[in-house]
Amino acid sequence: MSRHVVVVGGGLAGCAAALTCADAGARVTLLEARRRLGGATYSFQRDGLWFDNGQHVHLRCCTAYRAFIDRIGASEMVAMQRRLAIPVIRPGHGVAWIKRAGLAAPLHLARSLGTYRHLSLLERLQLGRALIGLMRLDLGDASLDAHTFGDWLRARGQSDSSLEALWDLIVLPTVNLPSSEASLSLAAMVFKVGLLSDRSAADMGYTTTTLGRAHGEQGLRALRAAGVDVQLGVAVSEAGVEPGGGLRLRRQGEDLAADAIVLAVPHAQAARLVPAAADPHAARFADLGAVPIVNLHVIYDRPVMPYPFAAGVGTPVQWVFDRTEAAGLSDGQALAVSLSGAVAYAQVPTEDLREQFVAELARVFPRAREAQVRGFYVTREHQATFRQAPGSLARRPGPRTALPNVLLAGAWTDTGWPATMEGAVRSGNRAGEHAIKALGLTTSVAA
Ligand SMILES: Cc1cc2nc3c(=O)[nH]c(=O)nc-3n(C[C@H](O)[C@H](O)[C@H](O)COP(=O)(O)OP(=O)(O)OC[C@H]3O[C@@H](n4cnc5c(N)ncnc54)[C@H](O)[C@@H]3O)c2cc1C
Repeated sequence: MSRHVVVVGGGLAGCAAALTCADAGARVTLLEARRRLGGATYSFQRDGLWFDNGQHVHLRCCTAYRAFIDRIGASEMVAMQRRLAIPVIRPGHGVAWIKRAGLAAPLHLARSLGTYRHLSLLERLQLGRALIGLMRLDLGDASLDAHTFGDWLRARGQSDSSLEALWDLIVLPTVNLPSSEASLSLAAMVFKVGLLSDRSAADMGYTTTTLGRAHGEQGLRALRAAGVDVQLGVAVSEAGVEPGGGLRLRRQGEDLAADAIVLAVPHAQAARLVPAAADPHAARFADLGAVPIVNLHVIYDRPVMPYPFAAGVGTPVQWVFDRTEAAGLSDGQALAVSLSGAVAYAQVPTEDLREQFVAELARVFPRAREAQVRGFYVTREHQATFRQAPGSLARRPGPRTALPNVLLAGAWTDTGWPATMEGAVRSGNRAGEHAIKALGLTTSVAA
């Protein structure tokens, strides 16, 4: 009989791990506490419209996530810009575009940054110093994680307004902290891999349908087609090691035997579930912390934003996306305002957020001044990511534990990436590969 791998958690990491193991010929069971797959990426219906819990974006350099999307048959549900082009709006000062040209990296951004009107001439001239510094950084140097990106930028002549008008536009949505708090190690990785490695690396992609459809439903279909026994609404309360080395999971008051397990749950749950024999030091990742992301979903009676998405400077509106089609709205426009590093907003009542942000959106988009707001909804993800501050690197474990058949996966594990969909899929692929190796099976899936 084939060896049995049990994957706990049906987020992107767990789905990727389960597919890797099933593709290698293992018998796979996936246990997910919720009644759907997709984990931190999901959708819900309100007043006849569909909303994602939070806008999700990926870049062309997210190769593992894009391969996963292909694998689950969801590529038709994902759009990718032909070339990076971001309209950045400062109310009262118009739009500046961050665009790439056809030149090789890093020259592909030279023209756009050289004329970026939300920075002064002096600030634009100073950018070169930081960009050259970034190119010289060695991402393998663990000491980078002792510093904030903000301190590093300031030491290279970047002003407060450069941080706000340029660097934080990228750092906040990718590391979920402002530069002043983000680990240099992770922020530098984003710029080196996403912007400076290849001219097409930062082209932006996003789902044109809901996340629930693209990840949850397509994921379930693909897992079942691969022979994975997906059990939804099943929470694992305990994982233990049998005297002979086999594994046992406790779920819904019953035991389930496994030859290998992949714990693809958030870090706090993983610290609780991982058997002590596999990781006696799980406390180090139990307190990786959490940072919220808040999304505001605003329904207008007419189009107010003339772009598929835009970023804001000099306004609390960080990023805003047109979700009209995905929402199923037939007239008017549905916008999703994404607020990362949202400690200041996570506890604010909906009415107060509505008052503040409807007024802000009218500053950002002049057409919104005449428009009626037909609906305003807030999604608050209090534990959207772990806190990606200095010191977090040493707390992120790799996929392997002291037991070869107990593996860890999740965007919070040490993938070299920030806590993103790409990190989640990479971690799942790697954990799956180690699981099948531990069982003596082989794989054709690359890490
Ligand atoms: C609002 C928001 C916006 C984001 N924006 C972006 C973005 O633009 N780009 C990007 O790349 N990333 C973004 N992210 C991050 C990205 O969504 C996550 O990094 C990624 O989805 C995490 O996947 P995961 O599989 O590691 O964990 P999760 O998705 O958290 O999956 C873990 C799963 O384990 C299950 N589970 C927990 N305990 C148990 C148990 N005891 N038994 C069984 N199951 C259990 C949970 O129910 C969950 O389904 C965003 C996140 C949020 C919340």
